[in-house]
Amino acid sequence: MRATSTEATSIGVDVGGTKILSVALSPTGAILARKKIPTPQQIDSAIGNPVGSSVAAAVAETVAVLAAEVGLSPTTCALGLGVPGMVDHSGTLIFAPNLHGAIGANIAHLVGDRLNRAEVGVDNDANCAAVAEHHFGAARGVDHALLVTLGTGIGGAAIINGQLLRGAHGFAGEFGHLMVDPAGPACPCGGKGCLERYASGAGLRHLSTEAAAKGELSPEAAESPESLFNAAKSGEHDALAVVDRFCWWLARGIANLCACFDPELVLLGGGVLEGHEIVLGPTSQYLRDELEGGQHRTPPRLEATALGPDAGAVGAALLGERTKR
Ligand SMILES: [Zn+2]
Repeated sequence: MRATSTEATSIGVDVGGTKILSVALSPTGAILARKKIPTPQQIDSAIGNPVGSSVAAAVAETVAVLAAEVGLSPTTCALGLGVPGMVDHSGTLIFAPNLHGAIGANIAHLVGDRLNRAEVGVDNDANCAAVAEHHFGAARGVDHALLVTLGTGIGGAAIINGQLLRGAHGFAGEFGHLMVDPAGPACPCGGKGCLERYASGAGLRHLSTEAAAKGELSPEAAESPESLFNAAKSGEHDALAVVDRFCWWLARGIANLCACFDPELVLLGGGVLEGHEIVLGPTSQYLRDELEGGQHRTPPRLEATALGPDAGAVGAALLGERTKR
């Protein structure tokens, strides 16, 4: 019998550095149930890779609870994971600044062992989010789209010719680490002056602190990205100037990406921008200025993501479907 939109057929899990979000998905993209739990930070040194093992245990447990809730078997349902870092083609987490202790772990294998199953899909969280937006969200029907997610850092993914671009080793789309200033601030990746030092949550903090130190921003507005955006929305001139600088850096980064990929659509998402779509207008304007041949070509559309914080988990569920085939 063919499943309807009221039946869950897959489970996707977005494994973040601080929280684990799981969703049960119908074939039409409806989220029928969800669970959010904190990411374990404790080290269970008794088993193999310490953080990887405790994260896998938490994922397996939450999947089992969610599966029971929607009448799926955690052993046989389609299951995929999105993880915050560079994942190679074997599913091993190669580099993950926000889940550092799990580097070297194959969380999909560890989860599979705990649930007594072989097939568990795994990919980078931004890749999962892009696949979700391409299937059910703002990039539906678009063959050339980029996703840029702004959290503490920048996540990225490219849909090219209608397919997710994974690269030779699985590491394509690390847009946050495009170097934009060799003399810029140090980045957790080990580099200097990466785009995400300017155009992410951490970037906003950097620009705010820099402006406050020069007396060009009130300490209250410089407290957090949220307080900066609020001050800007209330018309505070100094705060607007910092947001404007942020938009320029973001546009500069996107212009670099356009030089590589020539997308039709660039989706902006991530926690930093939620509720602060005011950046879309100025960023689009700067992008037109910064784009190679900008006055002679159609610039890509710049839009907010449609699936918001669910995108990673939804894309992981889609990955689970593909892995099962
Ligand atoms: Zn970097």
